[in-house]
Amino acid sequence: MNAPTQELLKQHLIDPEICIRCNTCEETCPVDAVTHDGNNYVVDASICNHCMDCISPCPTGSIDNWRVVTKAYSLEEQFSWEELPKQEEVAAAASGEGGTVEALEDEVSRLLEEARKGLGGKPVAPHSASKPTVNLYNRSKPATATVTGNFRLTDANADSDVRHIILDLGDQKFPVLEGQSIGIVTPGTDANGKPHVARLYSVASPRGGEKPNTNNLALTVKREDKGVCSNYLCDLPRGAKLEITGPFGATFLMPDDPAANIIMICTGTGSAPFRGFTERRRRAMPDAAGRLLLFFGARRPEELPYFGPLQKVPEKLLGKYFCYSRVPDQPRVYVQDRIRSEMAQIATLLRDDKTHVYICGLKGMESGVDEAFADACRSASIDWAALKPAMRESGRYHVETY
Ligand code: NAP
Repeated sequence: MNAPTQELLKQHLIDPEICIRCNTCEETCPVDAVTHDGNNYVVDASICNHCMDCISPCPTGSIDNWRVVTKAYSLEEQFSWEELPKQEEVAAAASGEGGTVEALEDEVSRLLEEARKGLGGKPVAPHSASKPTVNLYNRSKPATATVTGNFRLTDANADSDVRHIILDLGDQKFPVLEGQSIGIVTPGTDANGKPHVARLYSVASPRGGEKPNTNNLALTVKREDKGVCSNYLCDLPRGAKLEITGPFGATFLMPDDPAANIIMICTGTGSAPFRGFTERRRRAMPDAAGRLLLFFGARRPEELPYFGPLQKVPEKLLGKYFCYSRVPDQPRVYVQDRIRSEMAQIATLLRDDKTHVYICGLKGMESGVDEAFADACRSASIDWAALKPAMRESGRYHVETY
């Protein structure tokens, strides 16, 4: 007698270890299938119609997870997770609405591919980027780091407390590339007695260590009001030990090509990866022909992370455009305003297929920067609407905003 066929379902899930709780998926979902509690962002399998609208906007890729199941994981189960469950062995039915595991996987891959095409293509790393190592450590197997430095970056009379935190990895293998992130595990539990979710921070140092040939890395951390993880990190003294996960991120990587021009646009602590990019250029290819440009927005010079050290970076290595929004008696300047005032230079660079664009920081600047690029292109008869997706598909346009 044949065993009864089981109906299979491909369930859309969000990886709680990588998700940064930025709410982008919930804002994007057209059918309100994404929801959250104080712990996790989750997808309601009874509502999700696999439209894939949420996939491309997710800044971390945590949204792109799937399990073939015979019974969907409930919202309650998903809220309680600290990591995704493994794919269970499911008996594949040869027929029926659910179909086989393989057929379901093919269907989801097809839908994902379509969704990515419609949104300007799947984010990809630059062709010349070095190969990243990802997911070496997770919540159940974290690495242990030791704090070897914790320095305030913002002026003593600045409103914000932004810190440069150096973590030593001892003899643990933890290779990172510029643009990757790591997870920070805050000890203890939240108000519901659950372990705190790991928070993601971009690495601010280049490969090979904050200090060359040292197994360490640096983070740029802003103390957030009531921020559990940021206050934990900002208060760590030298010698303190903490658990970290990662490395994460396989696309927001720099081209390993001295001829590449890199336009970097950031606000506040979004500058972290660009410190890594700049230091990599300085160390590995100081005479590179490609230009590095940095458009950096902060409220005032006193609030701009790395203000002092950045002044000393030679123009030959890095073209700097600081944009201040709240200097008394001065007009408000956002990064997009400064891009507009450098329109001719930007248009020339955008014409060059060796030019890469990276945007990191506040979500709000994304559309403003996009419009500024469109204006720069218009002034030089370049079709930005066609160029942007082409740059994305060839790994030359990268956005990481929260
Ligand atoms: P912030 O101090 O709040 O803002 C920096 C500047 O951006 C201010 O001058 C602000 O102007 C301006 N700004 C506000 N809205 C803007 C818009 N729509 N277009 C252009 N500029 C705008 O920045 P922050 O608190 O440091 O935040 C940085 C962001 O980067 C955070 O969302 C953080 O999560 C993210 N991030 C951090 C890391 C990391 O490793 N730490 C990595 C990647 C991303 P006004 O306030 O005067 O309007």
